[in-house]
Amino acid sequence: MTFRDLGLSNALQKAVKEKGYTKPSPIQEKAIPVILEGRDVLASAQTGTGKTAGFTLPVLQYLAETKHPKYRPIRALILTPTRELAAQVHENVREYGAHLNVKSAVIFGGVKPAAQIAVLRKGVDILIATPGRLLDLHDRQVVSFKRINVFVLDEADRMLDMGFVRDINKIISLMPHKRQNLLFSATFSKDIKKLAQGILRKPVAIEA
Ligand code: AMP
Repeated sequence: MTFRDLGLSNALQKAVKEKGYTKPSPIQEKAIPVILEGRDVLASAQTGTGKTAGFTLPVLQYLAETKHPKYRPIRALILTPTRELAAQVHENVREYGAHLNVKSAVIFGGVKPAAQIAVLRKGVDILIATPGRLLDLHDRQVVSFKRINVFVLDEADRMLDMGFVRDINKIISLMPHKRQNLLFSATFSKDIKKLAQGILRKPVAIEA
């Protein structure tokens, strides 16, 4: 199996080759075609399985293939529990998107928001964020959720452990109903299943 067999564009095949990947990991083989079809996904995957490329590659392909207005509203949102993970996912998005006309940004708490606000004002197609700072900038009307059509919840179990369930539900209530949802988690407690049920529509279940 190759990245090409999974349906990824030449630009994305080139980017993964530059990263040194020779073939897709098992989670990538399972997740990428399903995400490209537009289905919701419930994925059980630990860190180290290649899960980040599993969702960022197809989301980038979708963003590159679909037309966006000139002002570039946020069309894909990736939520992560920590700033370290947010920064890491953003770095991946930048690398995989190296040959695409897709703009990205990352926002997280613990730093002054001015630089993040300046980047967001220029317009981004895909935003990686931690929940608190995202809601803060939404309250200040720096970000709008109105055009989001892909939503990724990464490390959902850690999100719950860190007490983000209310923030997540608030964010979900502000997004359009018609959207694709991807939920990744290492573990599946009763609480995660409940959260997933409230977010996902007819999800395809995938295991790494
Ligand atoms: P992740 O599980 O997303 O945190 O990825 C773990 C590590 O695997 C990262 O350093 C990735 O750059 C790397 N990786 C992801 N996909 C592949 C692949 N298909 N082949 C080799 N390494 C990969």
